[in-house]
Amino acid sequence: MKNEALLVINSGSSSVKFAAYDVGADPTFQRIASGKIEGIGGQPRLRVAGQDGSVLEDRAISLPADPARGQEDAFRQLFEWLGGHAAGRTLGAVGHRVVHGGEHFSRPVRITPDTLAQLERLTPLAPLHQPHNLSAIRAIAALLPDVPQVACFDTEFHASQAWVAQAYALPRHITEAGVKRYGFHGLSYEYIASVLPEHLGAAAEGRVVAAHLGNGASMCAMRGCKSVASTMGFTALDGLMMGTRCGSLDPGVVLYLMRALGMTAQAVEKLLYEQSGLLGVSGVSGDMRTVEASGTPEARQAVELYVHAIGQQLGSLAAALGGLETLVFTAGIGENSASIRQQVCHNAAWLGVALDEAANQATSSAARRISTAASRVAVWVMPTNEELMIARHTQGMLPRGARGA
Ligand code: AMP
Repeated sequence: MKNEALLVINSGSSSVKFAAYDVGADPTFQRIASGKIEGIGGQPRLRVAGQDGSVLEDRAISLPADPARGQEDAFRQLFEWLGGHAAGRTLGAVGHRVVHGGEHFSRPVRITPDTLAQLERLTPLAPLHQPHNLSAIRAIAALLPDVPQVACFDTEFHASQAWVAQAYALPRHITEAGVKRYGFHGLSYEYIASVLPEHLGAAAEGRVVAAHLGNGASMCAMRGCKSVASTMGFTALDGLMMGTRCGSLDPGVVLYLMRALGMTAQAVEKLLYEQSGLLGVSGVSGDMRTVEASGTPEARQAVELYVHAIGQQLGSLAAALGGLETLVFTAGIGENSASIRQQVCHNAAWLGVALDEAANQATSSAARRISTAASRVAVWVMPTNEELMIARHTQGMLPRGARGA
């Protein structure tokens, strides 16, 4: 019997990230290749790495300048590349990261015209992400109409939160219209929750805060490996300061920007999502590596503010849990910046955090404990794997006959 492959897609405004898995019999998910097409609408490039990180492809490609047509053509070229490297495997399904599942989708869903229409109605809740997630689904449906597609949501892990963790103090009819805290980065937290027992044993069931510090950044309080509270709310703008997003903000600021400064809703949206955060405060970059390396006074202040926001939110999540036993760092900054981890842990000494400086500085891509043996809070670095989570969900949504088991 031919082996099946499964493709995971994370589609953004100017890039398409992907990971291809060989689905074994158990099923096991062996990553065959991963990469991205970046620069859609600009100078597009296809980069693919093999299972061991070796470069399989890194070249400029040509795409239509119009981003929508560019994305469609990017998928055509990606499938051509995958087809040429399929080694006899057939494509069994495509799984997508979709940022918002709204109130109706608290589990992954097989894409049908009807589910796609429902997801389109959620676009105003995630204007910078949802349209690109959904246009990827449409483009692939046009290219490969017989291949099943599954949407996996960044909001779904947080569906377990209590009403008080989700509600805003707004009039009932506004809450009932769906204006509530949803939380995001759920696929990352779900993956972390899935590996907690392996690393922590019985403590996995305890009070854990996971900090997903990447371009987007949030934190999630978990108990019993389930989400109890999160820093992101109605949109992926709330909570921590991020690469280009502002994080928590007095809503009065938005009113002031519109009324007193005459900004349009579109201009405010651009300011808060794309021009704020590390970029806005440092004036240098939204990329932490560049900001940390820059050393200007503004860049140092940007890092200070970033760390300060994490400390404030950590206190809030510890309150939601009634204490803290484990703190997990993950994603690009959480996994790689010893300096940010050091500053966050230093500020969290009041919670019982004691960092092992040598363990924190050690470079490793494996999950590891970085707190001292005496620390009342165990601090860990755990690499996240949202793609694997999507692959597992996608396979789980296929009819038994199509699972190759
Ligand atoms: P992600 O969205 O998870 O890919 O994370 C991207 C963020 O991680 C960017 O801000 C990068 O600058 C940051 N990052 C990656 N490696 C490092 C590093 N070694 N030190 C500091 N920041 C890093």
